[in-house]
Amino acid sequence: MKIAVMKETHGGETRIPLIPPTVEKLVKLGAEVEVEAGLGLTCRYTDADYEKVGAKIVADHEALLKSADMVLRLRKPPMADVELMKKGCIQVGYLDPFNEKELLEKLKTCGISAFSLEMLPRTTIAQKMDVLSSQANLGGYVAVMEAVTQLDKIFPMMTTPAGTIKPSRVFIIGVGVAGLQAIATARRLGARVEAFDTRPVVEEQVKSLGAKFVKIDLGETGQTKDGYAKQLTPEQVQMQKEGMAKACAQADVVITTAQLFGRPAPRIVDRAMLAQMQPGSVVVDMAVETGGNVEGSELDKVVEIDGVKVVGFGNLPGRVPMTASQVYSANLGNFVDHFWDKEAKTFKLKLEDEIVKGALMTHNGEIFSETYKSIVK
Ligand code: NAD
Repeated sequence: MKIAVMKETHGGETRIPLIPPTVEKLVKLGAEVEVEAGLGLTCRYTDADYEKVGAKIVADHEALLKSADMVLRLRKPPMADVELMKKGCIQVGYLDPFNEKELLEKLKTCGISAFSLEMLPRTTIAQKMDVLSSQANLGGYVAVMEAVTQLDKIFPMMTTPAGTIKPSRVFIIGVGVAGLQAIATARRLGARVEAFDTRPVVEEQVKSLGAKFVKIDLGETGQTKDGYAKQLTPEQVQMQKEGMAKACAQADVVITTAQLFGRPAPRIVDRAMLAQMQPGSVVVDMAVETGGNVEGSELDKVVEIDGVKVVGFGNLPGRVPMTASQVYSANLGNFVDHFWDKEAKTFKLKLEDEIVKGALMTHNGEIFSETYKSIVK
């Protein structure tokens, strides 16, 4: 089976889909791995590093795509690339399916079996391939690092001959994978941390990391069967804003990570809340790319609103590309390995498998994902 690994084309992307150790793993499985020339440069891997582990380097983009049985990449494929791929080719990477209706149609009509890694079920067995978790975890870490550099104060308490310095207060909104890592990172740096999530089940996890859970009674909130938050009613959003106002006003740093599956992120910090914060405080909006949790945040900018610095950097994992690529690559390698038929030396598309049912978006000229069909009409 010929596996092509494509160089990223999205402007500003620093991460890469596959690092040499994963290529070596695929070669050992019996795959014929072809890597687009220059694939690893943003992470300091040369073409020679890939050749050493058994990959063939191909400079001809078109030829590489046309002959591949499987294509591995980081971000979604450009439309023009889809047209070059063979009918029946398996494509694996991010797809952003809820915002890419046209691309999905193209993949469908070209007969591509396209996996969207965002759609992998959040089950124990799929954890080793879960790119949302591996990247969100790093995003949570980077969000704290960005806050540290923007804040005019230090995080830890210090007792010095010149007096005692109080620890900074950090408030984390949304306690999924990113929020948990942000809590842990801020705690490690000595900050006093509070957190809130609409899923009350996370309270114990917040406490176990040494942070305080802010309790707000919103009535019935719950979560979906996959553990995702449900969308709040407008009344609940208002109650949440009122309940968080004090924690925001007291915080030196607010980090928002709230997301809703298949929908734009909820807008939960408004101008009035920013106006109540102390001048010089920092707000990091981790949801800026999916609509923004914070009113006024701008993609890839730090804007000052009423004396508060609002950080809207996109692609936070891309700020630590070597680590982010290491874990993304491991996720991809585990995905291929999980479905690899060792005898036939090929990837086996098991249509009845729960992971495939979750993440395979198009197959055999049809939209395959029931979840996608139920959300995108
Ligand atoms: P996510 O990125 O979808 O959302 C981030 C957080 O925002 C969530 O905790 C969500 O509850 C929260 N949120 C949504 N609306 C909010 C609001 N208005 N105010 C405050 N918070 C709000 O979440 P995720 O990190 O992708 O995790 C989703 C689920 O998957 C969780 O239940 C998580 O525990 C689970 N998970 C399971 C596994 C596994 O078992 N393999 C791995 C990773 C994650």
